[in-house]
Amino acid sequence: MARERLYLFDTTLRDGAQTNGVDFTLNDKIAVAKMLDELGLDYVEGGYPGANPTDTDLFATDHGFDTTFTAFGMTRRPGRSASNDPGLAALLDAKADAICFVAKTWDYHVKVALETTNEENLSSIRDSVAAAKGKGREVLVDCEHFFDGYKANPQYALACAKAAYDAGARWVVLCDTNGGTLPHEIERIVGDVVKVIPGDHVGIHAHNDTDQAVANSLAAVRAGARQIQGTLNGIGERCGNANLVSIIPTLKLKKEFADTFEINVSDDQLRALAGASRRLDDMLNRPSNRHAPYVGDSAFATKAGIHASAILKDPQTYEHVMPEAVGNRRRVLVSDQGGRSNLLSELERIGLSVERNDPRIARLLDEVKEREALGYAYEGADASFELLARRILGTVPDYFDVEQFDVNVEQRYNAVGKRVTVAMAVVKVKVGGETLISAGEGNGPVNALDVALRKDLGKYQKFIEGLKLIDYRVRILNAGTEAVTRVLIESEDETGESWTTVGVSPNIIDASFQALMDSIIYKLVRSGAKV
Ligand SMILES: [Zn+2]
Repeated sequence: MARERLYLFDTTLRDGAQTNGVDFTLNDKIAVAKMLDELGLDYVEGGYPGANPTDTDLFATDHGFDTTFTAFGMTRRPGRSASNDPGLAALLDAKADAICFVAKTWDYHVKVALETTNEENLSSIRDSVAAAKGKGREVLVDCEHFFDGYKANPQYALACAKAAYDAGARWVVLCDTNGGTLPHEIERIVGDVVKVIPGDHVGIHAHNDTDQAVANSLAAVRAGARQIQGTLNGIGERCGNANLVSIIPTLKLKKEFADTFEINVSDDQLRALAGASRRLDDMLNRPSNRHAPYVGDSAFATKAGIHASAILKDPQTYEHVMPEAVGNRRRVLVSDQGGRSNLLSELERIGLSVERNDPRIARLLDEVKEREALGYAYEGADASFELLARRILGTVPDYFDVEQFDVNVEQRYNAVGKRVTVAMAVVKVKVGGETLISAGEGNGPVNALDVALRKDLGKYQKFIEGLKLIDYRVRILNAGTEAVTRVLIESEDETGESWTTVGVSPNIIDASFQALMDSIIYKLVRSGAKV
């Protein structure tokens, strides 16, 4: 049986740009749009031309995307004609394939916010759709507050949606703008709407204020809607928008949806999803959510020994989908709770072949347990674990030796009389027979140490050129006088691969130094650097 086509509309760059602390530059926007285009999304909403210089610039050129690149804007203002509204004119001039209008559909908002009559609001919707159609654009209408409006005055909310459809809008999008509607309400109300407007012209735009934006989107599809709007990683105002990173794999991998619907995202594009999710977080300079469904580091991680041995025999016993399908991977956490099976499966994944009863396995297990008792946390530090395992198995070369380092923090007045804190580090490294001395400056001691350490590693320098630190986390264990510090550092290289290393010491600089060293050595091992 032919499957029905379901369309995906991404608004990361428009609604997602409303997120607290998110501020896309023009280049960011172009890069994200390109990434969404490559993921196979049907529509990418770039922004609101005329509302700010970035969005106006974005829509000043044709980017040649395959996706239907969409500009967002308001319907004509009440009391003005469509041809005499500068906002609408700017929108119609935008280099976009489609225009998505936002329109009021709750009579209360028409009266209070628009200060106009219900009838004038309906003509504004009709005129705006007609004007955009006249310019040859595909038209979508976001029905703002549709669900709250429908609960207050179903006839009027429906009349607005119908006006958009009758005027020629390709999509009438029902928005849960305040995000408070529950899945069963969504399903009932969308069911009512599709009796009046064909479901293959109806979309859903859900916000996550009850943590059910994904469920609400799926409920709308069950009721007949055929377009889902959402954002990458669910970014958006307040609690965010429907998360396309969770919705896409659900539609592709869950039988109920996969058998019934077809989306434009191919299996190959699905495998790029975890990477895209991480790239967006990188761009926003925030750590990825380890517990994100499907794509998070912990999404397919297991800790207890008994689960791990079952997973080795048959992964399906503890996994709802194959991690590789979304570009993620299985992680068996090495920790003092785990046993030999965890360790063996982790070694296998790293590619270290060891006999099951090799005595070094027991030594490694003891070492892990001993170190975890001291405060090391290997389940969160895959790279440090790999180095520890390789050291015990004797496969880590002695690349270089840090003979001495010195870190200074100084607070003083600068040239313009402002009090500043500066950190300086000097590192003495022995590479082969050669002694190299490097100095580095930073905004803090760890930063300065990192700069100095990576400044000159002689013949190994070329391997670490693309290395950068993307996250630095500090935790104080056993508070009080016996406090020790655990530092976790996440690094990334030029290929986008990332890894985490750990250091533990009563001294934060020393703990950071261990984690930094592990990160560099791990990179050299991965790059196949020879002594
Ligand atoms: Zn919204």
